[in-house]
Amino acid sequence: MIANYGYKDGSGEYYISIDTDKCIDCTAGRACLTACQKQMFESMTDDYDDEVMSIKTPFRRTLAYDCADCKPAAGYTSLPCSTACTPGAIKHSW
Ligand code: SF4
Ligand code: SF4
Repeated sequence: MIANYGYKDGSGEYYISIDTDKCIDCTAGRACLTACQKQMFESMTDDYDDEVMSIKTPFRRTLAYDCADCKPAAGYTSLPCSTACTPGAIKHSW
């Protein structure tokens, strides 16, 4: 399942999508948990009793602000979370 966390406002759409099927048998040692300097990821149990990742609730309405330090404007060429997630489960809409 693709789980989308985020919002849209007058300036654009800001969603982080997580392909939770890839989290179930994560081959990256759940690297997202430590890769994000703001610790935005958290583990949860889904409806099928599988351990998958989500974005902590307080961040879901402030992603544009919270992720700004990791974006190209801040000097990054790739996002720490997406890079650490070698299964490729994490995508950003902006
Ligand atoms: S590293 Fe990627 S696949 Fe592994 S738990 Fe985190 S988001 Fe899921
Ligand atoms: S872009 Fe940066 S702050 Fe945003 S989720 Fe990824 S690692 Fe965390």
